[in-house]
Amino acid sequence: MSIRTTGGRGRLYDSVLDTVGDTPCIRIGRIAPAHVEVYVKFEAFNPGGSVKDRLALNIIEAAERDGRLKPGQTVVEATSGNTGIGLAMVCAAKGYPLVVTMVETFSVERRKLMRFLGAKVVLTPKAQKGFGMYTKARELAEENGWFFASQFETPDNADIHEATTGREILADFEGKRLDYWITGYGTGGTVSGVARVLRKDRPDTRIILTEPANAAIVSSGYVNTRNDAHQPTESHPSFQPHPIQGWTPDFIPWVLQEAIDNGYYDEMVPIPGPEGIAWSRRLAAEEGIFTGISGGSTFAVAMKIAETAPEGSVMLVMLPDTGERYLSTPLFEGIEEGMTDEEAAISMSTPSAQMEPG
Ligand code: PMP
Repeated sequence: MSIRTTGGRGRLYDSVLDTVGDTPCIRIGRIAPAHVEVYVKFEAFNPGGSVKDRLALNIIEAAERDGRLKPGQTVVEATSGNTGIGLAMVCAAKGYPLVVTMVETFSVERRKLMRFLGAKVVLTPKAQKGFGMYTKARELAEENGWFFASQFETPDNADIHEATTGREILADFEGKRLDYWITGYGTGGTVSGVARVLRKDRPDTRIILTEPANAAIVSSGYVNTRNDAHQPTESHPSFQPHPIQGWTPDFIPWVLQEAIDNGYYDEMVPIPGPEGIAWSRRLAAEEGIFTGISGGSTFAVAMKIAETAPEGSVMLVMLPDTGERYLSTPLFEGIEEGMTDEEAAISMSTPSAQMEPG
């Protein structure tokens, strides 16, 4: 095999923001069963490391286009992390101050990343769940005249997934089977936007949606109340704290409601967080694909679907972000800082620079 060569991208970029999207679909060669062909759309390739770069960029640019966002105006948003990191990147590149509200339980590295990108992070109490951070952001926007990014209600969310994520899938699978597309939801932007495209141009693709087994709020059938601006006015009674950060807030977002009302998914498959964590670890250790808990959970559902999928089925699984965002979370539980006994035994096996375990 001769050395690999690369040829450059054939263009220069004016801004990091021009590198958002066009993420690769990558074949899973080792851990997927042989009778199916499994691809992952790996959103960690976005410059901010997650799928939410797409929405962050469009929320700001759509508001710039129609004058809702003024030069230098402060942007505020409630986010479990990836939207905040995406918005921090976009606001840094375009020169807007950003304030993010976030429940105190989300991973510490997410807060630090946002602060590193120049944002202010305001923590909200765990007891008040996602609804607390959301109410805080809305209140700050109203009292200070800030621009509320409103990822859970804004049409700019699903629209960008229709215009980019969905189109990319069509292009990359042109002339090829695509039997299943599998995704989770946080705001629902990914599923609502991509499903618009698939339902129209790939009607044979089965859309599989998933949510945490212990917070199966869509499966419960109860839709939480909302105000005239489509904002939730209560915490969903079926919600429980779950380890799949970025998925299922404690209400059914308006952006997701589009997918529910239009029958944009063929099956809902709830998944327990620990199964997602196990698959995320396998994707990293056996495929070299380093994704977070939501990616592992979406992949876990794909592996369940694969069990009964016909021979030759082609599946595409959304992997929303990079695993580096989870160092202080259950994803890394049991990953040692010091040397393990096995590693120390390797150290002791030759004379130089020996170290004890620990
Ligand atoms: N996974 C992670 C890690 C996320 O941050 C998000 C977005 N909150 C999602 C999945 C779900 O994406 P969407 O908001 O488009 O439904």
